[in-house]
Amino acid sequence: MFTPPFRILVSITVPVVACLLVSCVSLEFDRMTGTTFPPQHTVNGQLVTLESIFDDAGIALTVEQDETGIQPLNIAADECISDAELSTLENGHRHLSLFPSSACPFDFCNTYHLYGVVVNHYGEVLDACIPEFILGKMWQGHTRSAFAIFYRTNTIQTSGPEYLRTTAHEIGHAFNLHHSDGDGTSIMTQSDDLTGDPAYRFSEQSRDHLANHPGQCKFPGAIGAAPFTWVVNDHAAWAHPLEELTITDCQ
Ligand SMILES: [Zn+2]
Ligand SMILES: [Zn+2]
Repeated sequence: MFTPPFRILVSITVPVVACLLVSCVSLEFDRMTGTTFPPQHTVNGQLVTLESIFDDAGIALTVEQDETGIQPLNIAADECISDAELSTLENGHRHLSLFPSSACPFDFCNTYHLYGVVVNHYGEVLDACIPEFILGKMWQGHTRSAFAIFYRTNTIQTSGPEYLRTTAHEIGHAFNLHHSDGDGTSIMTQSDDLTGDPAYRFSEQSRDHLANHPGQCKFPGAIGAAPFTWVVNDHAAWAHPLEELTITDCQ
């Protein structure tokens, strides 16, 4: 006789408890036919996954591999998928809501929702199609709530370690981290700017942001989420002067 209320209690309580001391982010990850999800990778005997990369920086990320059979768009092989087409894909396939799943008003007891999609196409750079040029993109800059991986690129198809790093990098942008938050080898350093072997770790600066900056300035799809490049003043001071960003105060 008490079973139904008990079950309801459990289903409500478990996620809240799990995300009580640290906010959680659920990644709904879809892909088109002809693609794969990023593989895990072993470094010095340690298994590296998207979850472990973020866990190491104090972020509880869960990856929910969802659809695997989305049909590629009917465009030529050397054409790029546009940001508008990515948004249409997201609208058609996203099932986790744009905003957090609980009404908890604090950073430490919420579950935020991020959407990722692996497309079997090239991606646009500033509205221009330059095949092979970009590996991935966080294209929903206003809410920082969605990113895409461009599986057509040779690098993504042939290098599992690069694919894993690229995915962590785009998720980093969804957390409002910028290229200037990298330190030469870490996740947010752009591939072209690497000054050493790429590493599956966030820089001290990135870790400071992920641990200490306000929820709306970092969590993807937060209520009142600050758009990409809106960061607290301490963070703005880190920005590289050559980075093409207009850093605006987040508060
Ligand atoms: Zn980037
Ligand atoms: Zn910050």
